[in-house]
Amino acid sequence: MKLLEYEAKRVFSGYGIPVPKGVLIREPEEVTARLPELGDGVVLKAQVDVGGRGKAGGVLMADDASAIETARELFSREIKGVPVREILVEERLPIDHEYYVSIAVDRSSRQPVVLFADAGGVEIENKALEDESAVRKVVVSPLLRDIPPFLMREILGGAPKELAPVINSLYHVFQEKDAMLAEINPLVTTLQGVYAADAKLVVDDNALARQGIAVNRDLSEREREAEKHGFSYVELDGTIGVIGNGAGLTMSTLDLIEFYNGRAANFLDVGGGADQERVMHAVKLVASMPGVNVIVVNLLGGITRCDEVAKGIIAAGVAPTVIVRMAGTNEEEGRRLLAECGYRMLESMDTAVKAAMEVSL
Ligand code: GDP
Ligand code: MN
Repeated sequence: MKLLEYEAKRVFSGYGIPVPKGVLIREPEEVTARLPELGDGVVLKAQVDVGGRGKAGGVLMADDASAIETARELFSREIKGVPVREILVEERLPIDHEYYVSIAVDRSSRQPVVLFADAGGVEIENKALEDESAVRKVVVSPLLRDIPPFLMREILGGAPKELAPVINSLYHVFQEKDAMLAEINPLVTTLQGVYAADAKLVVDDNALARQGIAVNRDLSEREREAEKHGFSYVELDGTIGVIGNGAGLTMSTLDLIEFYNGRAANFLDVGGGADQERVMHAVKLVASMPGVNVIVVNLLGGITRCDEVAKGIIAAGVAPTVIVRMAGTNEEEGRRLLAECGYRMLESMDTAVKAAMEVSL
């Protein structure tokens, strides 16, 4: 789950990373009372979860006289389609230079990797694309509590040494907060010292409970529902709903849809030994996706019993056409139940997917 900038800054600050003085406001009028804390010259930053916020008009500069008008303006905007409900108002730093630093998981070496660039800021992605050497990459062993000095020198290159403690603290944040990504862009130098002018922190979804985060805000309502039932569920952008048991069988169903030039709406693995209740919830969940007019249910009866599956499908009683392919334990009884209620059953995955394609067109 991705934290908003002000939340990430609170975490960073707790680890001794200097952040600009700032206040969070929800109404433009709140800004006036808070200005004396911040000094003349402020930056208003929309707290929205979108990349390239600054370039999309989500970061505005103001002075004391114009702060309230600027806040009104920012609250009235949508940043890449996301309405602005909270604004972080910060002291405006007299920036000397902007650097880029992030720590992520390097999947190939399975270790944390520190990325550093001497030219940070809103153009970093373009710069990195143009010139790969603009970003230095240094892998750090996760067994180390601190980034050792010889690696820190490699990270910094010619950049000022005063950045080192901040990068090391960011590494602590990364490790202790179960982060997938911890980023400061820009990390700035000023006459008063170094600051994290922006902050990004993405916590591993599998570690939310350990981090005391009760609700994963990044999930849609349906994804949350799926999590509640323990389904492996991913939303895609097609129109054919998919339910399977076992990741392999479900993936094969997606592959087959793709093979016939169809587009799957989702991946849903109900897991092993699914009973009537679970199947019903799965069918209802997929049927609730907008644009889905047909659902392929592809189940193999092992511990899962086909009669339970059939009862679940019937109990769901959804509007989209449900096409069933199932084989294995109690198959005959399952087929009988579904046939009684007029469901279409097909002998193979192949024919089931083809039938779904016809309905979806
Ligand atoms: P992002 O576009 O969402 O990454 O927003 P940032 O918080 O990184 O801000 C975008 C840009 O605004 C930064 O790269 C800076 O150039 C500028 N900016 C942000 N805060 C300040 C500040 O306090 N002072 C000055 N002079 N510029 C700032
Ligand atoms: Mn930024």
